[in-house]
Amino acid sequence: MTIKTSNLGFPRLGKNREWKKAIENYWAGNIAEEELNQLLDELEHENIEIQRLHHLDSVPVGDFSRYDHILDASLLFNIIPKRFQGREVNDDLLFDIARGNREHVASALIKWFNTNYHYIVPEWDDVTPCLNTERLKQYYNETGHFHSVIPGPITFVALSKGGEQSFEDKVRTLLPLYKEVINHVSAKGADYIQLDEPILVTDQASDLKAITKEAYEFLAQESDGKVVLQTYFERVDLSFVAELPVYGLGLDFVHDNGYNLKQIKEGLFPSDKVLYAGIIDGRNVWASDIESKKNLIETLQEYVSDIVIQPSSSLLHVPVTLEKEEIDQAVLDGLSFAVEKLDELYALKQLFNEQDAALYEQLKERYTRFQNQGFKKLDYQYDAVRASRESSFETRRVLQNDALQLPELPTTTIGSFPQSKEVRKYRADWKNKRISDEEYQSFLEHEIKRWIEIQEELGLDVLVHGEFERNDMVEFFGEKLEGFLVTRYGWVQSYGSRAVKPPIIYGDIKWTEPLTLKETIYAQSLTDKPVKGMLTGPVTILNWSFERTDLPRHVVQNQIALAINEEVLALEQAGIKVIQVDEPALREGLPLRKEYHEDYLEKAVHAFKLATSSVDDRTQIHTHMCYSQFGQIIHSIKALDADVISIETSRSHGDLIKDFEDITYGLGIGLGVYDIHSPRIPTQKEIATAIERALQQIDRSLFWVNPDCGLKTRNEEEVREALAVLVQTVELFRKNQ
Ligand code: GLN
Ligand code: ZN
Repeated sequence: MTIKTSNLGFPRLGKNREWKKAIENYWAGNIAEEELNQLLDELEHENIEIQRLHHLDSVPVGDFSRYDHILDASLLFNIIPKRFQGREVNDDLLFDIARGNREHVASALIKWFNTNYHYIVPEWDDVTPCLNTERLKQYYNETGHFHSVIPGPITFVALSKGGEQSFEDKVRTLLPLYKEVINHVSAKGADYIQLDEPILVTDQASDLKAITKEAYEFLAQESDGKVVLQTYFERVDLSFVAELPVYGLGLDFVHDNGYNLKQIKEGLFPSDKVLYAGIIDGRNVWASDIESKKNLIETLQEYVSDIVIQPSSSLLHVPVTLEKEEIDQAVLDGLSFAVEKLDELYALKQLFNEQDAALYEQLKERYTRFQNQGFKKLDYQYDAVRASRESSFETRRVLQNDALQLPELPTTTIGSFPQSKEVRKYRADWKNKRISDEEYQSFLEHEIKRWIEIQEELGLDVLVHGEFERNDMVEFFGEKLEGFLVTRYGWVQSYGSRAVKPPIIYGDIKWTEPLTLKETIYAQSLTDKPVKGMLTGPVTILNWSFERTDLPRHVVQNQIALAINEEVLALEQAGIKVIQVDEPALREGLPLRKEYHEDYLEKAVHAFKLATSSVDDRTQIHTHMCYSQFGQIIHSIKALDADVISIETSRSHGDLIKDFEDITYGLGIGLGVYDIHSPRIPTQKEIATAIERALQQIDRSLFWVNPDCGLKTRNEEEVREALAVLVQTVELFRKNQ
């Protein structure tokens, strides 16, 4: 039985981030539309060529977006936000919807399932759905084998908002348009049409069965293309999707917690369909255990006759290629980016179809060599580290008040101060060795000193050093901890033209040198007020890195926790009395399915506590989170047992405080009293209202006042003015108490 190979999507960015550069140059007015089109056409062509060179039996077309594939579908179906209606439907409209323009705000940006990619939310208010036929071009290709990749109708509607129609009616409105698209691309030669339906792997799927059935029955009857219902990121209910009249089913065998395979073994895969088997991890950077992939294919073959192997999801979520990386061979052996994943598919295809094991053996050997490296085998003494504070919060609180002597309603900031052009230039110059370590260090000290003085002048109570040495709150730690690798070209699209370069956790993690000590101690030496140490927590570091998959996630998380604990203790030893451990990613790391939430939260809380509990009762631990839907995880946040939490609230006042009130939170809370995402300076009245509202429910003696989040994206003047208003407002409260 021969197998075929395919792919669900390829990174858009290009080997040198050409995609991002072209689009940003177009936005800046540096290049004209024709040039943008030419650059992007070339890049798309290159992406397709790379995939063809790897002998894929079919390459994806349609995934190469200029911003986001969901937004592409919105424009294709004429689902245009009301405020942008009446304009020609072209790429300028697309960019305006995505980014906003002078008159109108952008559409919302939301996380794509449990990835760090973000899509643009379709808005259905007052829309007139129809097919914009000139936008169909994106979904086919004039030469060679391809399949069209289009968001499926159920997922598209599920991710939408607004409009009067019911969910079902929205789907029904779209179906005739889908039919036209399918017929059109089929006529253009599409081998099949990949309709992406990741919504079917979520808890919501069980409520969507009737409309899913109706939709796919309609498409089977009315259109004449071969439809593959593609799922990923979790398991599907196979007994349900098996009934749908589609040509093929795409299942994820990597992120399904074993359930897709289990269902196949139960004989649930229908004999009349093709299995598009997602066997290579589309979301991580690791070379596959190629032998286990071979075994998986053999197992699948016992139950299914027609198999296409492919990545578990679009390769959008991984960097393009290792080609130009200069990484130690010992680690390189273990890695596989998008292009290298295509090699893995090809190796398996050669093995099965041609009995040619050359590439397969080579990959197998590399994999084995990597797994046996010493850097993966450290010993840890978890039991030697405390996982809960010595005394209760009530006891600690008294001791801390005594040690810190803060006024009531203490004021502080979240950590970062403006990353000015100068700051970024110095850092780049230092990284590229244009300036010496000494020069860089003395610049950092100069900047820290300047900002300590500013904070004293403003009258803030707990000061920060400003995080000028950091590019990013995770990459910075990745550069310093053992077991992490920071690549040069490992970029992944986060949203629009924004790309991130997550560090890669390749080995056991170890703290070998202080991470933040020098800057923090220096800042503290300049003032009598307490300077708050500033660290990123284990849950966030793990979530924003490419994690190891050869160890359970929580083990890696605990390793990071021990490393952070070392830094916490080093800071404490150096006389730092307040230490903040940020966990902004705690909530976004929640697994897709609810059944796994409790386990995830329990382990996350444990890791945070491992990282922070060893300190003396008098040392005050802060944490920070910047999102507002706390409801479902509020118990876990309380369980972190941080002495003070600072949170974003300026966009959701009442609700949020209620979350904390509902369980009588009882620990220190710093409320974000103004929105740092906007350059607008808050008024005293606004801040006073926010404080008053909070004080109706939260004990005054537990209450802190701070901005929403770090101030790195604001400029100096905005920061000075806004913080001055904040401090003045608090002084009024203190006087009128
Ligand atoms: N301490 C970080 C900062 O101030 C926190 C950033 C975040 O919450 N994402 O920038
Ligand atoms: Zn924040």
